[in-house]
Amino acid sequence: MDYTTPSSTGIHVIIVGAGFAGLTAAIECHRKGHSVLVLESFRELKTLGDIISFGSNSGRIFQRWPGMDKLLDPIIHKSDGLLLKTWLGEDLLEQSWIFERQNYGRSFNGHRGEIHEILFQYALHMGIDIRLGHNVEEYFETAIEAGVISNSQKFVGDIVLAADGVRSKGRTLVLGYDDKPKPSGYAVYRAWFDSTELAKDPDTAWLVNNGDRHCAWLGLVYTSRFDYLILSDFRSRHPLYCCLDKEWKRVQLGMYSQGQCSIQVLRVVVDKCPG
Ligand SMILES: Cc1cc2nc3c(=O)[nH]c(=O)nc-3n(C[C@H](O)[C@H](O)[C@H](O)COP(=O)(O)OP(=O)(O)OC[C@H]3O[C@@H](n4cnc5c(N)ncnc54)[C@H](O)[C@@H]3O)c2cc1C
Repeated sequence: MDYTTPSSTGIHVIIVGAGFAGLTAAIECHRKGHSVLVLESFRELKTLGDIISFGSNSGRIFQRWPGMDKLLDPIIHKSDGLLLKTWLGEDLLEQSWIFERQNYGRSFNGHRGEIHEILFQYALHMGIDIRLGHNVEEYFETAIEAGVISNSQKFVGDIVLAADGVRSKGRTLVLGYDDKPKPSGYAVYRAWFDSTELAKDPDTAWLVNNGDRHCAWLGLVYTSRFDYLILSDFRSRHPLYCCLDKEWKRVQLGMYSQGQCSIQVLRVVVDKCPG
């Protein structure tokens, strides 16, 4: 990858959190010529999460980073639209994404952990200083500097960006009150697994052969790509879906007993889910 870093602005930026927001801010600040320090509480990078979608707006950010498009291309879902079906399996309509892609930019949908790892390694290769195992305990600001305390150490910069996620300490400081996340009442069960077995089954082969497919059934939604398939249930308000112990078997039972899996293709998909 060919990076051309502009000359240094002399501005020191501290970024708390190496999630997507923190890494994006770090890469953009570095590209502007600021010196960047990222403090992240996790001790090691792990491939965590499931599917995540970055629409055209964020896709355009990825695309302006040299080489990023190429790095993400092999791992992202590629389909031209969303096929909507009724719960009986009949086609309703196909929503095309070609216009959006051509006019607004590419979207990047794939495994959160895999995309995150690519961004993380990209930032490291640019020479950005990312320090893991650095939980930020405190933020401070004076008339001449801003900074944080992490691992009992003081870090000082010109700007501090709090990219510390849903339970952000930085947000509390900026807002002046604790804006606690509220449960929506919904739960999502997802599986991410090798789709080789689906490719062999005549009921599901069409999903994974000849490129990726993105299909939605009334009530049940899933999307696939060459090697994996993701099954998501967005109807989890029903008690049978409130499987908080995350036993996948109970989720399957819930689907069957509610007759929601009457479509053969979904039966096969659920049967082949690991767990
Ligand atoms: C492990 C994980 C898995 C996820 N899986 C999915 C998924 O499958 N699908 C999906 O759509 N979204 C997922 N998300 C959510 C999604 O990645 C983010 O919510 C969204 O991208 C917003 O990104 P963010 O950078 O604002 O926050 P986050 O991605 O939450 O990143 C915040 C980062 O800040 C760090 N941090 C927090 N507090 C401190 C502190 N005091 N000091 C130092 N570091 C701190 C956290 O460890 C974290 O790495 C996941 C998030 C995480 C953390």
